[in-house]
Amino acid sequence: MTPSYKGRFAPSPTGFLHVGNAWVALLAWLDARRAGGSFILRIEDLDEARSRPAYRQAILEDLRWLGIDWDEGPDVGGPSAPYEQRRRRGLYEQVLARLMAKRELYPCFCARSRLLSIASAPHGLFADEPRYDRRCLRLSDAERAALAAAKAPSLRLHVADDALVTVDDRLLGSTTARPSEGGDFVVRRADGVIAYHLAVVVDDHAMGVTDVIRGADLFPSAFRQAYLAERLGYATPRYAHVPLVVDEDGRRLAKRHGDLALRSLRQLGVPSERLVGMLLWLAGQMDRPEPVRPAEAVRAFDLGRVPRVAVVWREAYTAQLKANAGS
Ligand code: GLU
Repeated sequence: MTPSYKGRFAPSPTGFLHVGNAWVALLAWLDARRAGGSFILRIEDLDEARSRPAYRQAILEDLRWLGIDWDEGPDVGGPSAPYEQRRRRGLYEQVLARLMAKRELYPCFCARSRLLSIASAPHGLFADEPRYDRRCLRLSDAERAALAAAKAPSLRLHVADDALVTVDDRLLGSTTARPSEGGDFVVRRADGVIAYHLAVVVDDHAMGVTDVIRGADLFPSAFRQAYLAERLGYATPRYAHVPLVVDEDGRRLAKRHGDLALRSLRQLGVPSERLVGMLLWLAGQMDRPEPVRPAEAVRAFDLGRVPRVAVVWREAYTAQLKANAGS
């Protein structure tokens, strides 16, 4: 029996949702609904210093404005509650204890300045990041105890050198890589904050997520997350990494594009149907950008028609959305 489809959208409440987030949320929601599946909203607020309650609340309102609903989430509850990561710490700590007992983790005392001086992987999926040189893996027990007396460590996953992971992405095809090329990654920071990779893997499993649709910037993460899932005995979800939406200079849409916050568009009186129509046209789902509600687009939705390369959001589109808005 194939498990029924369960999708999710997992934003971090560190700013207002913008057009780029709406793109991901919309594609994830439509694919889930097209498959007759259910949809989860999970708030990824592990980093409490960067998360704000006001943004958390705004995410729910802005998604509803867009016309997206969810079967499980912070406001509606569900079988895997709570749906806010800051309230799931006990579960992450249990999983960390399990990994620790299996000797898959080790404490790392290296200072940030030292980590930044380590050279990046020369090429491949993880080329942008420094690859940890395992200095702390080689500490003796005495050295470790001495360091631990002075400083709280982060915890790293010891990634087996020879492990190969294949990610069969619905849009990007099949790719096999060695997660060890990215180095041993942090699963709990020195300040106690649970790292993104651990929380996502634990939650997708605990919540029964079968399908992960998210931005292509997270494609390299899939190899680490699939590796971690495998170490924990979890099934890996099916992945689809959708292209990023970028501005005319090729920069991904982000908080700096303040006028593309869903909140700003809404306050100007832009009908959400216009934005949804524009995004679905860019996603290869419509011939022209015509106003549409997400629910009206479910039947004809086909993820396979989404482009494979970055989608450019032109200034003219913003102007088109705003034309006669609120009048
Ligand atoms: N919380 C992550 C973000 O805001 C997304 C996590 C995921 O989809 O795996 O970028």
